[in-house]
Amino acid sequence: MNYTSTRDNSRQVTAAEAIVQGISPEGGLFVPKTMPSLTEQDLAALSQMSYTERAQWVLEGFLPEWTGEELSAAIEAAYGGDRFEDGDPAPLSRLDESCYLLELWHGPTCAFKDMALQLLPKLLPAAAKKSGCGKEIAILVATSGDTGKAALEGFRDVPGTRIQVFYPEDGVSPMQKRQMTTQQGENVSVVGIRGNFDDAQSGVKRIFGDGQMAKTLGERGFSLSSANSINWGRLVPQIVYYISAYCQLLADGELQPGEQVNFCVPTGNFGNILAGYYAKEMGLPVKTFLCASNRNNVLTDFIATGRYDRNRTFYTTTSPSMDILISSNLERLVYLLTGRNDAETREKMKALGETGVYQLTGAELSALQREFYGGCCGDEDAAQTIRETFREYSYLCDPHTAVAMNVWKQYRKRTGDQTKTIILSTASPYKFGDTVLAALGETCPGDDFARLEALERISGLPVPASLAALRDARRRFEEVCTPEEMGEQVLSFLQ
Ligand SMILES: *Cc1c(COP(=O)(O)O)cnc(C)c1O
Repeated sequence: MNYTSTRDNSRQVTAAEAIVQGISPEGGLFVPKTMPSLTEQDLAALSQMSYTERAQWVLEGFLPEWTGEELSAAIEAAYGGDRFEDGDPAPLSRLDESCYLLELWHGPTCAFKDMALQLLPKLLPAAAKKSGCGKEIAILVATSGDTGKAALEGFRDVPGTRIQVFYPEDGVSPMQKRQMTTQQGENVSVVGIRGNFDDAQSGVKRIFGDGQMAKTLGERGFSLSSANSINWGRLVPQIVYYISAYCQLLADGELQPGEQVNFCVPTGNFGNILAGYYAKEMGLPVKTFLCASNRNNVLTDFIATGRYDRNRTFYTTTSPSMDILISSNLERLVYLLTGRNDAETREKMKALGETGVYQLTGAELSALQREFYGGCCGDEDAAQTIRETFREYSYLCDPHTAVAMNVWKQYRKRTGDQTKTIILSTASPYKFGDTVLAALGETCPGDDFARLEALERISGLPVPASLAALRDARRRFEEVCTPEEMGEQVLSFLQ
């Protein structure tokens, strides 16, 4: 199967090249030229399989250069054994007769980023070999919290790779900082930045664009690569759990063959929900995707009006992983809405870069609204949803999932749609203990671990072992630098 670029249809790359390069040289994103198909018979067969077997089936369709053995080894290393609590990477929980939660946070870092970042590191070294790169892969990551830790955990001690993460020294939660600065592994480095997330991100982009740096690193045997969410290798593992969730409900008799479902997804960079849309393009019976945003509701407006406008106030919310004004993966959807028109996609993205605004045509907007519903809610409504969901269902959700839950309720009230809905639960409530305790009306202890204990007492849900273990973990990384010094940090790490 061939991949092309959203901004240049004449480009042709293999899946391995798409994963190694991350982004197309002219700035477009790699997309499959055709979708593997998924029939009702396939779904029936998949419903009898385990998560890892379903993953194998889906990945074979998208990554034809990998042998079956290579894929099964990568999948086993990512999702097998005890990498995920209770051995189930994506358990479903039934809320009521028409609503289910798909929990994607049972991995080592307690957020859904693990679903992709456990697998990508196992695909990347092979992709480098297959595309003839021949060098050691050096991953640079700028993070606002969740991605950095998930990438570190995924790449740690993976042969043929090194990883360096830059985080804003004062811009992540105490628990997130603790998670990163105690990271184990011989091939990892973690550096704080005196600045915000944008400074860290710009610094990484500058290093990627620095020809001299690439030359020096190349002579030392390294090739730079990125693990951020526009990489195709991060999207493809996410397609799996949409299909798997549907199959699980079929197997449990909750769905009839061919029955449609809705998915409701707490959205930031549009990676997670887009993977669901790809599953639908393959043939998964989905009626509507509910795109849930927090107060940074640029996507809600876009779905309502067809006008994307990032010129607005940026709000810091209690669901920080969705505090985003430019949803990078939306470019892939725009490409599909325009009928795979590379010139039109290029124009729109150029306008976004230059003016912060682009506009869909009437036909494109209708196509968008046939598939997606956009909704949003603020911090107070999210807190109320956490409280009510706990009271009504004894189910404790994190602030990101609460946004989705709130938007689903709004949608059902407004439309009366009774279609069964799967809400994607993207983080453990323990990762955002202060917000969750406050939402429940409990006093919030100042100490991170006292908070974990307080939540455990109230909810009865055991503290995730990986967070509890941080209490005694030794801090390994103290380094802090200015954004200007990031290049030196890279050169001193990659010797
Ligand atoms: C990253 C993240 C999101 C947003 O996912 P996108 O793929 O960026 O839309 C939602 N919730 C949590 C907890 C996250 O870490």
